[in-house]
Amino acid sequence: SNPGAQTLRTEALSKSFGSFAANSDVSLAFQPGARHALIGPNGAGKTTFINLLTGGLAPTAGKVWMGDTDITHLAQHERVKLGMTRTFQINTLFAGMTVLESVVLAVSERRGLQGVWYKTVASHQDVVDEAMALLATLKLTAEANTVTRSMAYGKQRLVEIALALATQPSILLLDEPAAGIPSAESKELFEVIAQLPRDVTVVFIEHDMGLVFRFADRITVMVGGKVLTEGTPAEISADPRVKEVYLGE
Ligand code: ADP
Repeated sequence: SNPGAQTLRTEALSKSFGSFAANSDVSLAFQPGARHALIGPNGAGKTTFINLLTGGLAPTAGKVWMGDTDITHLAQHERVKLGMTRTFQINTLFAGMTVLESVVLAVSERRGLQGVWYKTVASHQDVVDEAMALLATLKLTAEANTVTRSMAYGKQRLVEIALALATQPSILLLDEPAAGIPSAESKELFEVIAQLPRDVTVVFIEHDMGLVFRFADRITVMVGGKVLTEGTPAEISADPRVKEVYLGE
């Protein structure tokens, strides 16, 4: 579907904390354009796995690949340059700034225009245009001049995603994007995520199975630091082992 895109994959990725194996032999591939959910009970190792992908944690063993490039030992910012990014919380960053100002700043940074500030970017209309296009993608156009922190949490999550998209990723990692927001807002949030351009692969951790089965096209189930199974939503919902895991929780 997306010839230029690179497949992110892991090869027998393992991470131990002391003698405790938080991830063991995790080999997974994320196909370009997928909306790929990582599910599993608390403590299954999902967040650890995402941190191994981003470079937030170093693996004990195994490899991470982007296409033919071994990125296992690259720093986080180098992975961002190669097209992998995750959202980060805007709670402390960007306090007092509007949505547009924040996204303009993020676009400026990617373009190497440090110090370009929204109020002084008359000569950088293209930066503002790119930021406005991102806001349109995230259905935030009407909130462009609203102070981000005054908005509903669901909208703030969308701003976090806009800031991540400003790095022009081919792979976007979301660790529980709907956590802490009301369910009506989380459905809206996922509707926007599902409609992101298909040149962005989205990998997300989500506990709400209604959201997972409505918005994922691929699901990996982790249990005890290992991959239990992977498949389409239909395959996963029909798998008795998956039911067992959730009934046993
Ligand atoms: P999940 O995201 O599926 O809930 P995590 O990846 O957060 O699972 O955690 C998997 C296991 O690894 C948990 O038992 C957790 O306590 C343990 N763990 C995670 N991070 C650390 C750490 N920095 N030090 C020690 N144990 C950790």
